[in-house]
Amino acid sequence: MVRENIIQLPEDVVNKIAAGEVIVRPMNAVKELIENSLDAGATEITVSVKNGGLDLIQIQDNGHGIELGDLPIACQRFTTSKLKTIEDLKQMHTFGFRGEALASISCVANVTIVTKTADDKCAYRAKFYEGKMIDKPVPSAGLSGTTITVENLFFNCTSRRSSFRYPKEEAQKIADILVKYAIQYPSVSFAFRRLDGGRNTNDFRSPGKGDQHETIRSLLGTKTSSGFLNFEFTDNRLKFSSNGCMAAPVAAFSSTSLKANQDKHKNFFFFINGRNVEFPRLKQTLEMVLASNDLHSSFTIVSLQIDPARVDVNVHPTKSIVHFLEEEAIMERIEQEFLKLLSGVRTCGAVDIDS
Ligand code: ADP
Ligand code: MG
Repeated sequence: MVRENIIQLPEDVVNKIAAGEVIVRPMNAVKELIENSLDAGATEITVSVKNGGLDLIQIQDNGHGIELGDLPIACQRFTTSKLKTIEDLKQMHTFGFRGEALASISCVANVTIVTKTADDKCAYRAKFYEGKMIDKPVPSAGLSGTTITVENLFFNCTSRRSSFRYPKEEAQKIADILVKYAIQYPSVSFAFRRLDGGRNTNDFRSPGKGDQHETIRSLLGTKTSSGFLNFEFTDNRLKFSSNGCMAAPVAAFSSTSLKANQDKHKNFFFFINGRNVEFPRLKQTLEMVLASNDLHSSFTIVSLQIDPARVDVNVHPTKSIVHFLEEEAIMERIEQEFLKLLSGVRTCGAVDIDS
């Protein structure tokens, strides 16, 4: 290859490369935006999508809003209201901290923000492109909170945009992530609407009344109607606590279990300090524990609370993977807890199941 001189890449190229890592598909944009709404203390979040999110993603929340003076830099890279010093990174209690999501989204889509704080007399609307605000914010009608509209996602990355050949699958991925957050945050009402024309029977709204079982039932339906096994424990030595529940397991040979078997890969939800992340090894462990007891369960949620200083969330641009100290020992401890939970099912055929 011919040797070329080293050059500094122009800012727009750097931003676009970074954007492609944070926003891989429509679902990543939705996850970032709902996490922003949760960080803003929202109790109602409505997500509307068109064409699997490629034509339109709109997130409306009733959170604390963005101050008018902050709007001009809201979509710039590395601008955040959540982190001030590197020390803060050790004790993050918010989802966001890098100030990269809005910047990334605005590099690959047209973004409009309408926002109103409790002190504002009216809402303000501003449009953004490539991190910059286009024109001054204009007064607009709107309730307290923030509505972010993302249009024409990946319009300037044609090969990425055309790689999404099945918009229905993208819409389903968005619905799946919303279901996870709705179950982890039962006090927040999440709604999902597909605006593709016609009535969409798969649209939903979670009750948002703070009852996790009711939320699971309302979103996952009859599969989980037979009750739940709950668990909650603290391990002082490993400095973590965990809670969650499992849909009442059924015998591995029953007809319900066949359905449960098909769903099992989909319905394992894992959260660490409130953040949904992948943890395939724990999922496998759980499946092995169930299989060794000749049982199947259609749904499990495991939520882990660990001192934020022991968790590294800054491992992957999409924050879908985290590392934490003593991962192996913590996994084993959770496995023991599952074994204990299931021993009741094995010995009596039933345990004290909460309905
Ligand atoms: P981060 O969440 O890492 O701070 P983002 O790019 O996601 O970065 O958001 C930038 C800033 O915009 C946030 O720090 C927050 O102050 C503000 N913001 C974004 N979305 C909302 C929202 N829905 N409600 C209130 N403020 C928001
Ligand atoms: Mg954010």
